Amino acid sequence: MTAEDDDQAEPSPRQRKIIHVDMDAFYASVEQRDNPDLRGKPIAVGGSRERGVVAAASYEARKFGVRSAMPSVTAKRQCPDLIFVKPRFEVYKEISRHIRTIFAEHTEIIEPLSLDEAYLDVTENIQGIPVATEIATMIRAKILSETALTASAGVSYNKFLAKLASDHRKPNGQFVVTPRMGPSFVQDLPVGKFHGIGPATSAKMNGLGIFTGMDMRNQTLEFMTANFGKAGTYYYWISRGIDDRPVRANRIRKSVGAETTFFPGSRRLRCAGRGAAAADRQGLASLREHGLAGPDGDTQGEVFRFRVDHPQQVCRYH
Ligand SMILES: [Mg+2]
Repeated sequence: MTAEDDDQAEPSPRQRKIIHVDMDAFYASVEQRDNPDLRGKPIAVGGSRERGVVAAASYEARKFGVRSAMPSVTAKRQCPDLIFVKPRFEVYKEISRHIRTIFAEHTEIIEPLSLDEAYLDVTENIQGIPVATEIATMIRAKILSETALTASAGVSYNKFLAKLASDHRKPNGQFVVTPRMGPSFVQDLPVGKFHGIGPATSAKMNGLGIFTGMDMRNQTLEFMTANFGKAGTYYYWISRGIDDRPVRANRIRKSVGAETTFFPGSRRLRCAGRGAAAADRQGLASLREHGLAGPDGDTQGEVFRFRVDHPQQVCRYH
């Protein structure tokens, strides 16, 4: 190969090894751990008031269709025996710090998505363990022994697939998506299950005849960008199992990535930094999609989680 060929070659990053760790029904599990009376019962962490929103539901509650971000009134209707528990964010934050110290035994490249979820790049890892699955097993075992809480993990060669994989054997399980499995793993997935595709985008895709990963893969890049802008490029590639986004350490300090507590009616999203307007729009669109913000941007919910995919921005609520 000549130097010129080399220059023109597509960048081919070395195959990454990424683990997505996700605590199981985190807030609800913490409450059940700390209060034996709540164990085995359908509980929702969040406000029970008229405008309250479920922040987390126990697995017993999920059987009734109770989900996070669901209005509390709807949840109560779905599950009349539902027990509402007030969130204790300080406790959750402390556990979150604890599990991060467990992650840090293996890698410094940790990207928290929220208090209970993080991507880890273990391509090179501190203990020199060659098999990422083994690292995931060790992390989950240590989390369980030190916090009495279970976590699930997904292992793959990119972030998108690792995140999908962590859902695959939930709760208290793990799953690996190998490079050979990647594209087929995505093809049958309904678009609404893609991380980053909310109800509004999902509806728009359905309107265009795109229901699954396979449908998305059948579109051209031009079609995807014409209809979905910059995000269209991302969708185009992930539908092929390709996602080159690196795991970004310290991202949590730079972008919105955590649960945020809102007080009804008074808070607005404001982002500063490069592309702030776009992030504002994305954040607001995200809130609106979940019925948590009015047209003026005032939020209506209590607890909500979302992320803004622009790590260079600083976002906060006020
Ligand atoms: Mg979780």
